Formats: sequence, C-alpha cells, structure tokens
Amino acid sequence: MDRLLTGLQPSGSLTIGNYSGGIRQVIDYQKTYETFLFVPDMHATTVPQDPEALHKNIKNAVGLYIACGVDVNLDNMHLYIQSENLYHANLSWILECMTPFGELTRMHQFKEKSKNKEGFSSGLVTYPVLMASDILLYDAKYVPTGIDQKQHVELARNLAERFNERYKGDFFQIPEPVIPKIGAKIRDLKDPSKKMSKSAENTKGTIFLLDCEKDIRKKIMGATTDSDGIIKFDEENKPGLSNLLTIYSVFSGMSVEEIVEKFQGGGYGDLKKALADLLCEKIAVIQDNYQKIMASGVIDDALDRGREYTNAIAKEKYELIRKTVGYGRI
Ligand code: ATP
Ligand code: MG
Repeated sequence: MDRLLTGLQPSGSLTIGNYSGGIRQVIDYQKTYETFLFVPDMHATTVPQDPEALHKNIKNAVGLYIACGVDVNLDNMHLYIQSENLYHANLSWILECMTPFGELTRMHQFKEKSKNKEGFSSGLVTYPVLMASDILLYDAKYVPTGIDQKQHVELARNLAERFNERYKGDFFQIPEPVIPKIGAKIRDLKDPSKKMSKSAENTKGTIFLLDCEKDIRKKIMGATTDSDGIIKFDEENKPGLSNLLTIYSVFSGMSVEEIVEKFQGGGYGDLKKALADLLCEKIAVIQDNYQKIMASGVIDDALDRGREYTNAIAKEKYELIRKTVGYGRI
C-alpha cells in the first residue's frame, strides 16, 4: 500500500477549511492508502501558545478527526502526535543544513505570517523544513492538503531530490501534494480575499467545527458577498458568493453547477439560509460523535498505538540518514 500523510496544527480549534482541505481527503482515501495522520504540535509553537490550551487543542483535534469519520479501527490508519517522536526534529536539522535560508524566507506563507510582525521566531522561518521531515521520515507518497500548503510540499519534494542526488541513492520517496478540486481554499467569510484560518484574529469570518448553531447561522448570514444579486460561480469577481457555493458543495457533495442551478433566480438570502441549515445539520452530527469520543478511551488508545508504530519506522529511517551524512562513529 502506498503511504499518505497529513497533519493539522493544533494552533486553534479546527475549521471547516481544515475539514475541506485536510480531514475530508483523509476520509476519502483512508481505505486506499496506508495513512499517517498526525498532530503537528511542534509546528504550533512557531507562534506563542498557552501550554494548557495547546494540550487541549491536541486532544480536541484528534477527537474531531475521528468524529468527522477517520476510522481508527483500520489497521492501516496511524494516528500520532509529532512531539512524541524525537526523530522529526532530528531529521529536520539535517535537512535544514541543506536548505538555503533564502529558500525559506521566500515562502508565501512565511511572508504572510511574518508581515507587520516584529520579533517573530526562527521557527516560523524554518518550520517548512520540519514539515518536510514529517513527510520524508515515512516515505509518504501522497500529502493531502489545501492550496496554502502546496509550496511546502514542493519544498519537501526538492529536499528529497536534493538528498537523493547528493548522497547518490533512493533514500527518500518523492512526495506529491494532493489538492481537492473543490474546497482547496475556503475563504474567510468576512474578508474573502483571505483564506479561512483557525488562528485568525477575527473569528467572525471563521466557522469552527465546534461552533454552536447560533454562531454558525450568524456567521453565514453575515458573510460578505456583492451587490449584483446574481447567483454565479466567479471566484475572481464574486469571491464571497463563490466561497458560499464552494462550502455548500463540500458539505452536500453536490457539484457547484448543480447548486447554482438550484438557487438560480433566488436571492443571496435564500442561499445563505440553506447553507446555514446544511452546515448546522452536518456539524451537529460531527459534534454528537465528538462528545461520545471525548468521553471514551478511543483517543489515547489510538495515539499509543500510533506512537509505537511510527517511532519504529522513523527510527530506522533516521538511523540510515544519520549514517549517510557521516554523523557518529563508523
Ligand atoms: P493556522 O492559521 O494556524 O495556520 P490553518 O487553519 O491554516 O491554521 P493548518 O494547520 O495550517 O490550518 O493546515 C491544516 C490543513 O488544513 C492543511 O492541509 C491546510 O492546507 C488545510 N487548510 C487550512 N486552511 C484551509 C482553507 N481555508 N481551505 C482549505 N484547506 C485549508
Ligand atoms: Mg496554516
């Protein structure tokens, strides 16, 4: 079985954007590939985190993965926490030493996240290398992600190729990003020029999977659209409306064309009301599962199994790489 790997930072509570670009794809592919689904808690500390909130977000994230439909009973599903495996950071160091600094400061996400910020951490610059290490340690072939992380997966590809070339061997599998056709960039509801993010300062444009029904309705009804009143999918000229159509598609399974047809001739209010109903219904099911999962021992059991399995793979790969670069004794 080829390997698929992805992770969602516990830098806040998960959003419908994270569902669309990350979790949804894992669910679609979990029976086809050996799946490595982890919580990159070390990525979250690239910006300051409250330790208690971080612990809570880690557990909540795993609870939500399972509540959304990640099947921990599959033998080929491995759920684990990044910081419970010391090899991620160790391999990252080796790869960092092969990455020109300018390659990292040119990354879109670094530029965005460091904009107008003084004193940002070095980790904010180097974390894409840690992400490359997360991927390469397991020889993952497929990396499901939203469009925002595509560049980071490309860095992982480049680093794998660079290493294989420099040390003359097939040390690492070359990974590929897997980007969904629809819903690869869910936009902020208030400011559709931005992507929806769990760590956004203003949460009015973000729908969290743990939001209550009242908040979901309020956020959808207050979403920014345009004034021409025509239901049409046009991301460039009608980003707000197109975003609502996209979210509708992700949660209903209908194509955007079918949705445009369904709401043709009606006002934006009708579409928003129907979308709010749809989201409330789907999210209620997730939240119901979530309550049951959080009250059970499923999460810790799965994480213990995942830690053991993934540590063994990572150790073997790291030992090979460590010797290959010349560290330690012969
Ligand atoms: P942060 O604001 O802390 O960076 P985030 O919401 O961007 O959080 P990440 O943990 O960085 O979430 O990303 C987790 C996964 O979710 C990645 O695969 C990413 O591509 C995907 N993702 C994040 N935001 C969106 C979005 N708005 N639309 C689609 N996919 C998204
Ligand atoms: Mg992000």
